[in-house]
Amino acid sequence: MKNENKQYDLIVIGGGPAGMMTSVIAAKDGASVLLLEKNDSLGKKLKLTGGGRCNITNNQINPKDFLEVFGENKKFLFSPFSQFAVKETMNFFEKNGLSLVTEARNRVFPKSQKAVDVFNLLEKLMRKNGVEILTNRQVVKINQSGDDTKIITSIKTKKGEEFFAKNFAIATGGASAPKTGSTGDGFRFLQKLGHTIKKPNPNVVPLKTDSKILHDISGTSWSFCKIRFIQDNKTAFSKTGKILFTHFGLSAPLILNSSYEVKQLLKKGEVFASIDLFPDTEEPDLNRKLWRLFEKNKNKKLKNVLPDFLQKQLANAILQYFPEELANKDINEISKDERKALVKKMKNLKMQITGTLGLEKAVIADGGLVLEEVNFSNMTSKLYSNLYVLGDILNINRPSGGYSLQLCWTTGYVAGKDIKNS
Ligand SMILES: Cc1cc2nc3c(=O)[nH]c(=O)nc-3n(C[C@H](O)[C@H](O)[C@H](O)COP(=O)(O)OP(=O)(O)OC[C@H]3O[C@@H](n4cnc5c(N)ncnc54)[C@H](O)[C@@H]3O)c2cc1C
Repeated sequence: MKNENKQYDLIVIGGGPAGMMTSVIAAKDGASVLLLEKNDSLGKKLKLTGGGRCNITNNQINPKDFLEVFGENKKFLFSPFSQFAVKETMNFFEKNGLSLVTEARNRVFPKSQKAVDVFNLLEKLMRKNGVEILTNRQVVKINQSGDDTKIITSIKTKKGEEFFAKNFAIATGGASAPKTGSTGDGFRFLQKLGHTIKKPNPNVVPLKTDSKILHDISGTSWSFCKIRFIQDNKTAFSKTGKILFTHFGLSAPLILNSSYEVKQLLKKGEVFASIDLFPDTEEPDLNRKLWRLFEKNKNKKLKNVLPDFLQKQLANAILQYFPEELANKDINEISKDERKALVKKMKNLKMQITGTLGLEKAVIADGGLVLEEVNFSNMTSKLYSNLYVLGDILNINRPSGGYSLQLCWTTGYVAGKDIKNS
């Protein structure tokens, strides 16, 4: 039910994880809360998180350890994380009936492996605590008053409605994956209100490569490899993990978490990548393994045997780096040198990194409201005492692994709790 004449305790703009969390917490403490969302439903991005599984947080109970990944910015985050960090987040979800599991690299997921269960829980809590939700409501204007101590007085929607509140929260997200609704509206509001916004850049994002052969096996993943990024013939850095080959290049968390450093390298010059598909096996051992397989299949064609060693599509891709006739040779015709060359290729699949995908494909973009303009003890703007700023709107760079959502839970909780003090 819309109520334009009422003065709410809190109006939340944006129904992503940060907005949902803050509205639940404020409403639970008795605040009247209205949440406005421009999409026809809430949490579009939340439902996509973690490949549909939702990596809720990163299970490092000591906030000090958790905050290490934020580098310089951790100094801003000590205060909100002293109020609501990983332990409290996990308790919050579990107490409200969502069982969690911790997987590799401390990543926490719902036991059901369904992002939609996280969404459903938050939406249920919003309704249970009486949050009024209006979808298909794009906020287009934020009105303010006052000179020295400025406050926000009301907001206007594209439909021409005006809503009033004592407090407002901007939780409109950042600039990554704009098709989910986060198109940077919040940045524009804040800029108009006199805040400083750093231009967003895709930071956790897939990489583009020049390798036609690997583009052709789009959708193929390999569960454990080592990728080295090379500049000026030197390894700049390397990482191990699962890789996904796509029609434009490379993806999967290993790549996403390398993309920021790769971007910095690309600013300086050409970057190449070398993928070792068997990082735990030295070349001579791999050669012996392949020889043993060949011994058992002497009269078969290489193209029919290699898929037993690698995945079919990856085996076909490897063969494309060699003259066409090699694939059709019988195993007993393969020379020792040809076998060694195959092994070398599996240990060193080389390609040039030609760039990153843009904001539309980014999991995380930096940019947003500069942190010096935020009171982190309660997540208010330093320019407007009744304006809260939450989640991806903040200029905080971070890796993938549950860190982004934890920022939403923490900032959302701290702001929600502050409403009753306001
Ligand atoms: C593919 C993908 C996978 C991800 N996986 C993970 C993961 O597993 N773990 C993790 O920690 N992070 C993950 N992230 C990052 C995470 O999704 C974001 O950090 C998080 O969604 C940010 O939440 P938010 O509430 O700040 O903003 P958003 O989720 O972007 O929500 C903002 C909401 O505000 C609405 N809105 C915008 N403008 C207006 C307006 N003018 N009026 C009204 N409403 C408006 C939008 O429609 C949207 O619903 C992933 C991101 C992507 C793109």
